[in-house]
Amino acid sequence: MEGARFYKMINPIMHYHWGTKGRNAYIPKLIGIVPDPETPWAEMWMSTHPKAFSEIITPQERIKLDSPSIRESLLGNKFKDGFPFILKVISVGETLSIQMHPDKIKAKELHEKDPLNYPDSNHKPEIAIAIDEAKVFVGFKKEEELEDLIGVLQDLKPFAEISSPGKLRKKLFENLIKLALESPKEVESFIEKVKEAILKHPFKEKTLFISLGEQYKGDVGLLIALLLKLHTLRKGEGVFIPPGIPHAYIRGNLVEVMANSDNVVRIGLTPKFKDLESALEVVNYEKEPLIFSPLGKEYFEYDVSLDEFQVIRWYIARKSFSIEKELDKNFAVGILLEGVLKTPDGDIFRKGDALLIAQGATKIFLEPLEIPLEFFLVTVP
Ligand SMILES: [Zn+2]
Repeated sequence: MEGARFYKMINPIMHYHWGTKGRNAYIPKLIGIVPDPETPWAEMWMSTHPKAFSEIITPQERIKLDSPSIRESLLGNKFKDGFPFILKVISVGETLSIQMHPDKIKAKELHEKDPLNYPDSNHKPEIAIAIDEAKVFVGFKKEEELEDLIGVLQDLKPFAEISSPGKLRKKLFENLIKLALESPKEVESFIEKVKEAILKHPFKEKTLFISLGEQYKGDVGLLIALLLKLHTLRKGEGVFIPPGIPHAYIRGNLVEVMANSDNVVRIGLTPKFKDLESALEVVNYEKEPLIFSPLGKEYFEYDVSLDEFQVIRWYIARKSFSIEKELDKNFAVGILLEGVLKTPDGDIFRKGDALLIAQGATKIFLEPLEIPLEFFLVTVP
């Protein structure tokens, strides 16, 4: 058996405005940096995407994963174009835009039509896993829940009655998006009406909608958010988001893995480019997100059945349990969120360390030195 080659990675950070700041900033805590109070820390990418290349550290130098020959030596010939996925740690301080991702066919179409707003031609299925408790909007509410919603917010009723075939999900989504496309000015006054109704009635998501309303005045995303299901993910729980499912991350720190793409159709809750026409074409009313719960398990595979990636989580609370995984000579990328790990060669990895395991090893073995230990590994199936 050839010994595995482990490399520590240095990873690009995205300081998007919605990231956490100062004392609440998770990423600086994870990687051991003292942040200044004003800079938002939104995402850390373990990636070979052209927007953000990771680097590895060797005893001699730092090497950027930006050339095919370097990638071939570390990842193998099959992956000389790069990882087929992006692994991210994201830290949400302010709600992100409501968005969907196109499937492979639609992604290609959008990229050809509008390469500026759709810089990738690849699809972007993604899984988001809570590091601590996280709140997310993912997928539509059930038909009965939408009926209840109309019962409370009577102003929505006409949108459910306009003659268009299909279920409530489709009617409400389509007709609200059409309102925003055809008479954007009416959206603002309509939101005001809905807001009054929300204030008058007992409404589970009241505080959230009122605060979003202050931030995104007149944004149709507020109305679309009413149609979406609010999930609270506990530590380790994950949600897989297939193409065409509307979603928005609200709060929390998450590990996110997606196909290597930055292809996003934005609907609302954002000052960025929105594409409501494409939203109508991309949306999928039938598919449901998949929720995974590894509660109490030391080893857990999030079974997303994709060609691009597989995600495994270890949560180890006793030292007798170690990390063992067959790799069949393939490369893998890992991130250690808690604890300390030791390789058979005596290399030590600590909290916040991301590691690239180069191709060639049939199996990895890592021993926990400090527990509790939380480790995520992404492999290509
Ligand atoms: Zn997304």
